[in-house]
Amino acid sequence: MKSKIWLSSPHMSGHEIGFINEAFDTNWIAPLGPNVTGFESDLTSYLQEDKEIAAVSSGTSALHLALILLNVTYGDEVICQSKTFSASANPIVYQGATPIFIDSEADTWNICPIQLEIAIKDRLSKGKKPKAIIAVHLYGMPYKVNEIHDISKKYDIPIVEDSAEALGSTFNNQKCGTFGDFAILSFNGNKIITTSGGGALVCNTLKQKEKAVFLATQAKDQNVAYVHSHIGYNYRMSNIVAGIGRGQMMTLDNHVQKRRSNYNFYKSQLESISDITFLKEPDHCYSNRWLTCVLLKNKNDQDKLRVHLEADNIETRPLWKPMHQQPVFKDAPSYLNGTSDDLFERGLCLPSGSNLTDEDLNRTVALIKQYFE
Ligand SMILES: *Cc1c(COP(=O)(O)O)cnc(C)c1O
Repeated sequence: MKSKIWLSSPHMSGHEIGFINEAFDTNWIAPLGPNVTGFESDLTSYLQEDKEIAAVSSGTSALHLALILLNVTYGDEVICQSKTFSASANPIVYQGATPIFIDSEADTWNICPIQLEIAIKDRLSKGKKPKAIIAVHLYGMPYKVNEIHDISKKYDIPIVEDSAEALGSTFNNQKCGTFGDFAILSFNGNKIITTSGGGALVCNTLKQKEKAVFLATQAKDQNVAYVHSHIGYNYRMSNIVAGIGRGQMMTLDNHVQKRRSNYNFYKSQLESISDITFLKEPDHCYSNRWLTCVLLKNKNDQDKLRVHLEADNIETRPLWKPMHQQPVFKDAPSYLNGTSDDLFERGLCLPSGSNLTDEDLNRTVALIKQYFE
């Protein structure tokens, strides 16, 4: 069997272990400590100095906290991009609220401004004002920031920016993860940097961050008598995990460069095949190219090509199955134009890790060329 080529696997820089050893040497084996504080400040310096960032146990918990801080509660409606990973939508249901799914547009594959406005008007006409909009920079490609945020302002509905896949991407030279009323990041094992598991909530004020940290550490009103006037969560990041994050931040820019060069390599090698198209960067967008995705002309090729590569121990994956197609969300209202269904049928994510070798990339490209010959 040939060696496995993964879709996106962890890529350590070597700097991580020093921060972990320091945590052991000083006995900071807890969900607080110098690595947590240090990782938060590394993220702030990277994203934008006036942001307040809380490191938490996952991107999902960060999304959950954002919805709590926006007072999303039982019976509310929350708008969410349909084409995304399920973690974008699940926290809506944790709060007892209903997700309202919005289809994609073709330029970025993200939330469609036209369907978004149709949905808001329709919900308003039914007497329900959505409490928030969850917009996603899918596969690292920024959503239509200007259009989506204009709609958010027009109807006064806050945006939770799901930047789990887009650390290192920019729109108009501003980093993704800085546009929303809240934004979230993920450091799960397959993301552009990883802490094994982890996430962050990006806030605009210190007060919001303090409230998030309070909720994430069991909502103790005061520390001696353990008085509680809120339901709390155990969502803070561990100091060990944060040590991995500090090491990963030292190499984040390299990871972005490498993933972009993967995309450029695939494109240069495969764009002459008329059955394959690539998602281009629209004006003002700079994508971290977390995953390189291709669209196949013929939907029958999607699974056949995947199996062809799998036979050679190369992992690929269809694009995310839209949330409006998921059994668990079958009753949720959705506003559709057909784009995300089509992307799901014809799209394939290629191996995209920052640790892929030239040999890995050449092997993958050779098999794809062979398939289409
Ligand atoms: C990974 C991911 C999340 C969830 O992050 P976790 O850290 O795995 O909880 C949320 N949204 C999107 C779009 C993701 O890709």
